[in-house]
Amino acid sequence: MKQRPPIVVAIDIGQRGEHRACKPVGDNVFTRTLARAIEVEGSAQSLAHLLHAPEGTLLRWSVGRADMPVRAFTALVEYLSAAETRQPANDGVADAATPQPSSERLDFRVGNLLAHCARCEGSEFRRLCPEQPLKMTSRLACRTCGSEVVHGNLLVKLGHDLIARKRLEALERNRRLQAMQAARTKSSSDDETA
Ligand SMILES: [Zn+2]
Repeated sequence: MKQRPPIVVAIDIGQRGEHRACKPVGDNVFTRTLARAIEVEGSAQSLAHLLHAPEGTLLRWSVGRADMPVRAFTALVEYLSAAETRQPANDGVADAATPQPSSERLDFRVGNLLAHCARCEGSEFRRLCPEQPLKMTSRLACRTCGSEVVHGNLLVKLGHDLIARKRLEALERNRRLQAMQAARTKSSSDDETA
């Protein structure tokens, strides 16, 4: 039976509904991070060069037609984090503002795999500074236990979780295949002896 592809829920930050209509097919944290990095770098070509990846491959990643290796994704997160720290900080605004209790619920997913809090496995987060845009270097808090995590680190961990799950799925697929082959071999040898 063919599994129905999971419905990807967009993370809307201050622009609820705006991008829903024109969401690309493979919209997830990987493709969105890549799109942001292309924007920051200025062109897909020079970003491909930075990542030591062919431009065509990068473009396939960007539309979700090919899976981005976790190493490339980690490099993207590092690239964006570094770009953010180079930018002039406007943290003064955040310091002056009184911290508001934020009711936002962010989740980060690739397919149907969600990023989880390392402490309690919760999958909903909020920005510690909700008045600032969500950046790679933004600090997030788990909505369940309040445990803090840097956005970029959370995404990198999600990338690793995805690889781990794919390995497990491949392993299980192989095991099923072997069991089927063994059963087939057995039945054909049964036929011979019969
Ligand atoms: Zn938690």
